[in-house]
Amino acid sequence: MSPAEVKDLYKILGVGETATKEDIKKAFRKLAVKYHPDKLKGDKKSEERFKEINEAYQILSDDKKRQQYDFMRKNPFGAGFSQGPGGFSGDQSFQFNMDDLGNLFSGFGGLGDMFDLFGSKSKKSRRAASASMRGADAQTSITIPFETAAQGGQHAIRIPKKGVCPQCGGTGAQPGSRQITCPRCKGTGSVFVSQGSFGFSRTCPECMGTGTKITQPCSVCHGTGKTEASKTITVKIPAGIRDGQKIRLAGEGEPSPGSGPNGDLYILVNVLAHPKFKRDGDILYSEADIDLVTAIQGGKVVVDTLQGPVTLKIPAGTQPGTKFKLKGCGVKSKKGRMGDHFVTVRVALPRNLSAKQRKLFDEFASSLK
Ligand SMILES: [Zn+2]
Ligand SMILES: [Zn+2]
Repeated sequence: MSPAEVKDLYKILGVGETATKEDIKKAFRKLAVKYHPDKLKGDKKSEERFKEINEAYQILSDDKKRQQYDFMRKNPFGAGFSQGPGGFSGDQSFQFNMDDLGNLFSGFGGLGDMFDLFGSKSKKSRRAASASMRGADAQTSITIPFETAAQGGQHAIRIPKKGVCPQCGGTGAQPGSRQITCPRCKGTGSVFVSQGSFGFSRTCPECMGTGTKITQPCSVCHGTGKTEASKTITVKIPAGIRDGQKIRLAGEGEPSPGSGPNGDLYILVNVLAHPKFKRDGDILYSEADIDLVTAIQGGKVVVDTLQGPVTLKIPAGTQPGTKFKLKGCGVKSKKGRMGDHFVTVRVALPRNLSAKQRKLFDEFASSLK
């Protein structure tokens, strides 16, 4: 699809691109006299021509506006603009309508708001543009258990699903009812708004640019042409996903306003904390309690890992705070390798000793002297 054409203001005034301010002024005066409405009363064509001449002169006689106009002429749209997180892929041309241009041009000093610089191909081309436009991207979020994030899995979500209304097929009109040509824009889809000696065209607010008006809105969709239902989709959670990461589901976003492809759905993933495990990337951390005797004489302790309980050998003389590595018991990394799990040992000391135990400790203490 080719973008709308930029009006050739130089041609309208019959001057070259390198024309000086003086040339432009002269050309304008000559044409203005020729096409002045006072002179040619009731001649619609001349009136249009006069408007065009006026508009061209307003821009080309102003250094700043002329510069912006020249820039626009030499920079057809398509480069530099992107939409949504993915941007446009290479084969998608940049499509727009006049309302979008108003926004794009705000950086150019609002030029787009003031002048209709684009040969108004109106209804047809505008409709064609919106027909092949991609639907908007949508966003949602899910909260998943720690284990699902670490090991991967599935998570079902319900998402609103916009569809075409089955009764009216998307037109928004009650079947059998009459659709009339929009009285405001006479079916062109745009209206011309005058401002002083010049004007600009906008999307018709009465018909939203469609050029037609519905006399009786569809009883199912109340004139929107769309239905809203919800559907359940199962999201595949890749192993090792982190809190705050996003999953993209291609084509599950908003539908196109026409027949273009759907947008994408971005799912923000929140990962719940775990009562025992802490995670840093693909490494897991946890703590294990051992008793005094095990710490001193050595032994075994059963620790929980993501893969289930594992028996850890405690060597004699293990100090509190000692870290043990359980190789490959952590979280699967991006490269598919398994991270490690580190267990920090805490030593639980006995609190209430019996008289006999205290005596034994006395003996033990004196043996150290
Ligand atoms: Zn209209
Ligand atoms: Zn409907």
